[in-house]
Amino acid sequence: MPFTLPNLPYPYEALEPYIDTETMRLHHDKHHQTYTDKFNEALGKHPELAAKSAEDILRDLNSVPEDIRTAVRNHGGGFYNHSLFWLMMSPKEQGGGEVPDKIGKAVSDSFGGWDQFKQQFSEAAAKVFGSGWAWLVQGPDGKLQITWTQNQDSPVSQNQKPLMALDVWEHAYYLKYQNKRPDYIAAWWNVANWAEAEKRLNSA
Ligand code: MN
Repeated sequence: MPFTLPNLPYPYEALEPYIDTETMRLHHDKHHQTYTDKFNEALGKHPELAAKSAEDILRDLNSVPEDIRTAVRNHGGGFYNHSLFWLMMSPKEQGGGEVPDKIGKAVSDSFGGWDQFKQQFSEAAAKVFGSGWAWLVQGPDGKLQITWTQNQDSPVSQNQKPLMALDVWEHAYYLKYQNKRPDYIAAWWNVANWAEAEKRLNSA
């Protein structure tokens, strides 16, 4: 099996009370595991692809054989997006929610201030219809942009580099927040890992 479920970089309960332990268990151990398994299953039909990284595969979906392209888009996207998502959160005691200077300035310069960015990003995340993700991405021109994707589509398939990810599938919040996605989004800001976004900013 070419791809394996990455471990969480913190304990399941580390993001409490903003993201609850049971949601983290299900989300990581069940949902992310299933994306990983189904991604591997699809690649089993074209093992030559397994030599590439998940990011490289998703970056060039058109070169993926047609018989597995949809499965790779959905399950490969699920594998890759969630692998990012865990890194893009951090316990509050370890800097979750804090904004280092460099990313703070880049974001503020791009969106007219941090508060403006926070509002626009939250609105984008709230407005995703059905299942999907909100993203802060850096385009090939270096510009920062708020975007969203449906299902498990990944910005890397649009030649964009994800700096921050917010999963707004119901499985990410329903146990604790039920239908109140805006409450989940508001809580998530307390554990968003902007140090990770800063690391990715301008990285190759
Ligand atoms: Mn998810």
